[in-house]
Amino acid sequence: AKEKGRNDFQIFNADMLSASINRLKLENELRKAIIGEEFILNYQPQVDIETGRIVGIEALIRWDHPERGIVSPNHFIPFAEETGLIVSIGEWVMRAACKQNKAWQDQGLPAMPISVNLSMRQFFQHNLKGKISYVLEQTGLDPRYLELEITESMTMDVDHAIQSLLELKELGVNVSIDDFGTGYSSLYYLKKFPIDRLKIDRSFVRDIMVDPNDAAIVATIIAMTRHLKLKVIAEGVETEDQLRFLHQNNCHEVQGYWFSPPVSAAEMERILRENSSK
Ligand code: C2E
Ligand code: CA
Ligand code: CA
Ligand code: CA
Repeated sequence: AKEKGRNDFQIFNADMLSASINRLKLENELRKAIIGEEFILNYQPQVDIETGRIVGIEALIRWDHPERGIVSPNHFIPFAEETGLIVSIGEWVMRAACKQNKAWQDQGLPAMPISVNLSMRQFFQHNLKGKISYVLEQTGLDPRYLELEITESMTMDVDHAIQSLLELKELGVNVSIDDFGTGYSSLYYLKKFPIDRLKIDRSFVRDIMVDPNDAAIVATIIAMTRHLKLKVIAEGVETEDQLRFLHQNNCHEVQGYWFSPPVSAAEMERILRENSSK
């Protein structure tokens, strides 16, 4: 038994070691990626159900890794958040998204907000307002064409959230709460947050046709936004049935594979051109 115990201990150690080597490796690779700008943005349209017009675009990061190819954000954003590297990555995203949106406007495409996902660390950074203001100035993008997406978990410290959001709103940008319904945001405080829109999480939308509870939750969130005078968008809309349900329940905007998955900048430009000539 003693013998076995020692072996287990060694195996455990070897695993720990290889895990920390992997983490170090990943951290180094991410640092290189930041310096070498190995990231790209994909873009997903947000659509007005009634008119079929694109009314906004979400920017979503990918890592174009030299050996592994395109890496999904779920595979490096949480790690980047842990190590703090997210702050530099987030700054790159902000700049790239604003620059792209301005370029589309300069080409005569219809002006609309671009949504950028903010990480927890960014949201708690000193002088976030100053940094965003600088990017807007540098890129020449009108603040009303930038939307920041925060999640409910960032609003747990209610006083900090209200203070930060008020500062951001002073810039003239829009703010939305992403993945709404999955966190713990207090409905009581929701009305005190200076936000513009709620994004109903994909997990509720996915089952609206099969799970009456999810259907009720989605319908209730939509009704609530109407009372609070907030805009609302449903994420992860994949089917005609889901679209019909959302339309009948007065949700005006949708985002999801039903209209388009996230695409490259060139493809997004083509979609915008086609959509605007309809
Ligand atoms: P999110 O902000 O909730 O983004 C929506 C995710 O849902 C995207 O995954 C998108 O591709 C996916 N999606 C959109 N429509 C559909 C649909 O109809 N069906 C299904 N099954 N999925 C759909 P993606 O691009 O892999 O991003 C995953 C998450 O990574 C994002 O979730 C966001 O939390 C994070 N992320 C992405 N880009 C950034 C970024 O620039 N900064 C930060 N901090 N986080 C980011
Ligand atoms: Ca988002
Ligand atoms: Ca989301
Ligand atoms: Ca999500």
